[in-house]
Amino acid sequence: MRSVKQLLCVLEIVCLSIFSCPLTSLAVAIQDVPNPRQMAGEWVTDLANLLDTQMEKQLNQAISELEADNGIEIAVVTVPDTSPSPTPKDFATQLFNYWGIGKRGQNNGVLLLVSEGDRQVEIKTGSGIMNLLPNSQLQSTIDMDILPRFRSGNFAEGIWVGTQSLIQAVRTAPEGIESEPPSLYSPVKPNTYVILEIVTIFVAISCWIILLMFQPPKVDPQGRSLRTDGQRDKSLICNGCRLTMQPVDAQTLLTYLTPAQSIARELGGVAFEGWQCPPECKQSTPPVGIHLREYILDNQQFQICSNCQERTIQRSVEILVPATITKPGSRRIKQRCHSCLLVKEQEEKIAPGSPVYSADGVYIGSVTYSSGSSDSFGGGDSGGGGGGDGGAGGGW
Ligand SMILES: [Zn+2]
Ligand SMILES: [Zn+2]
Repeated sequence: MRSVKQLLCVLEIVCLSIFSCPLTSLAVAIQDVPNPRQMAGEWVTDLANLLDTQMEKQLNQAISELEADNGIEIAVVTVPDTSPSPTPKDFATQLFNYWGIGKRGQNNGVLLLVSEGDRQVEIKTGSGIMNLLPNSQLQSTIDMDILPRFRSGNFAEGIWVGTQSLIQAVRTAPEGIESEPPSLYSPVKPNTYVILEIVTIFVAISCWIILLMFQPPKVDPQGRSLRTDGQRDKSLICNGCRLTMQPVDAQTLLTYLTPAQSIARELGGVAFEGWQCPPECKQSTPPVGIHLREYILDNQQFQICSNCQERTIQRSVEILVPATITKPGSRRIKQRCHSCLLVKEQEEKIAPGSPVYSADGVYIGSVTYSSGSSDSFGGGDSGGGGGGDGGAGGGW
């Protein structure tokens, strides 16, 4: 019994070695094909030994240039046989997927497979490159460029011309590759992108700042605001509805002004404008108020009254004793509110110095040399305005 079992065992081993060993020795498993990218960063694996070193170098160079230009990857593989696979076509498809030829997400790889034993050429392309290399193009490369040379035994030449034909077809395809992948072969391109991005951001920020500068001021639909830079608004935007407000006519405006505001306006130290939201504004439910916009015209002669809270005080200066180069002078400062009739008067010294005159020749103060702070160049409003105060004023 034991010897029979042993005999069977031996027979089994012999049978297995007879039938399987010749098969496996001829065949090349997909996993056993050396990946040229991983081995040496190249593109050619010549297991069937159809290419000499010079031709491999030439192929690698040409494919590298193509890959640097537009990211397309071409693998050239020769094998003695593809027999474990049902067909060379299956072998090509499996190898293509196993290696993952082409850029991730772009699927722009090409595999040119030559099986010497099968006497078969297969070209497999990724889905992302089919617009550049349609099947008709692949067929014509095989039929016109490769097979005639293979038939006359010129394998290296057939592979070279076939590869060139593929490269040429890609380069001259009407629809170019839409965008190049970030690649180590073309380090200049990412820099260009970065510069473009910076320029774009800079332009966007500049536009935004300019827009903000020229945007009308935003104000509440009702209430009051002040503009002190001497400019008038061309338009205002409502803070509530973001719509452009409309100016109200002068007559309507007067009905909104308090008595003190009317007096301040008549005196001329300020101007008022009324602005109203358009009817679409949800914020301005009837009775509709206005936004009162105040512009300062003269803050030297006219000042805000602490009682009335409006620019109703008129300030005047009366020279009592003009100063000379050596002797101080004196002046009386008079503040009078035209609304509440509050009056304040105070006398003050004029420091010695050269006399200063207003445009119409009235003495208004002096220039002192002792300190840098001249007290006489401001103002220059002569005549004192209403109230018959006389004299002339000088700011300090
Ligand atoms: Zn509004
Ligand atoms: Zn007052």
